[in-house]
Amino acid sequence: MNYNKKTVKDIDIKGKKVLLRCDFNVPQDKETGEITSDKRIVAALPTIQYLLEGGAAVIACSHLGKPKGEWKEKLSLAPVAKRLGELLGKDVIFAKDVIGEDAKAKAAALKPGEIMLLENLRFHIEEEKNDPGFAKELASMAEVYVSDAFGTVHRAHASTAGVAAYLPAVSGFLVAKELEVMGGALDDPKRPFVAVLGGAKVSDKINVINNLLEKADTVIIGGGMAYTFSKAQGGEIGTSLLEADKLDYALEMIEKAKARGVKLLLPVDTVCAKEFSADSEPVVFDAGKIPADMMGLDIGPKTVELFCGAVKDAGTIVWNGPMGVFEFPAFAVGTKAMAKALAESGAVTIIGGGDSAAAAEQLGFADRITHISTGGGASLEFLEGKELPGVACLLDK
Ligand code: AMP
Repeated sequence: MNYNKKTVKDIDIKGKKVLLRCDFNVPQDKETGEITSDKRIVAALPTIQYLLEGGAAVIACSHLGKPKGEWKEKLSLAPVAKRLGELLGKDVIFAKDVIGEDAKAKAAALKPGEIMLLENLRFHIEEEKNDPGFAKELASMAEVYVSDAFGTVHRAHASTAGVAAYLPAVSGFLVAKELEVMGGALDDPKRPFVAVLGGAKVSDKINVINNLLEKADTVIIGGGMAYTFSKAQGGEIGTSLLEADKLDYALEMIEKAKARGVKLLLPVDTVCAKEFSADSEPVVFDAGKIPADMMGLDIGPKTVELFCGAVKDAGTIVWNGPMGVFEFPAFAVGTKAMAKALAESGAVTIIGGGDSAAAAEQLGFADRITHISTGGGASLEFLEGKELPGVACLLDK
């Protein structure tokens, strides 16, 4: 997959109408609909400002929530238009529909330096179906397409991929940074390249483990996933998480690592508890020697030392998935140590979205990480080495 894609800087935008796919899928208060975090709107500002200052007329669009093709007032993007206007310090014209009369009239009248926002794309079922007719209608309002919603690039939807059939397509700054840092790590990493994988389920990360065993020098496996690997090697794992149908796969991965000369590190000890609960008393056991009535909820102190030592001299570190149940403070020690080790390493550090991003933020290390991906699902598919429709459709450099 080619990650070297044209950005807004590689295309003439002056006087052009630009369809800008944003990620305005903001969290909202269930009762009042109030936006509870405007982080995603703030993140979109650099691309928007660049386009407006460069003399483009911006037609922004996004989805919000899961209306599944129904017109749902609660999922209107109107509050986002208001908040975006406050942040930009200028009017954001809001279209009451997506490809209807109101949107088309407002888009036609839009002048350079002005911005409008279309109503929620997913009010049309055609959006998620990547309906060519719908994509064509969307594209008909603009002359250039800019993709800046990394969280949806793994989806082939009308606004994330379909429109590129009708318009020259480039990335905005958010997507460009994701491609540059994560693409760079996969294509030409500074070595040693260490991948740290954790989280609950092996099945979620099968393709990530498989792909990274072909790219990395060291692969570290922690979190709930590690117990399936331990069991596969004949270990006793008590009541720890187990995916019994993935035992063969675990052995296959251990063999693959050996065959490729990749160092595969698994926990050597584990912090256990009687129950899955925040106040269950933590007790440490060696890996593979967990009593029948105990479950592993974090990596143990010897493992912390082993894993953190392995990332210390890395050139590139990619991390996806917590080392334990970090939501419970007593079992957050391993995840916290890993976040700290990343922050203190001299490596290019990349956290692939979702729970590990939340952990780094919650534990206070986020500002010392090179790049925290904004897309959970998208960054997983990225690390799997899959072709991402929303990236593949952009013009090559
Ligand atoms: P994932 O979405 O696959 O990255 O998984 C994240 C979740 O894995 C978090 O909610 C963690 O609490 C959970 N997790 C990590 N380690 C364990 C473990 N040893 N047992 C149960 N859940 C775990």
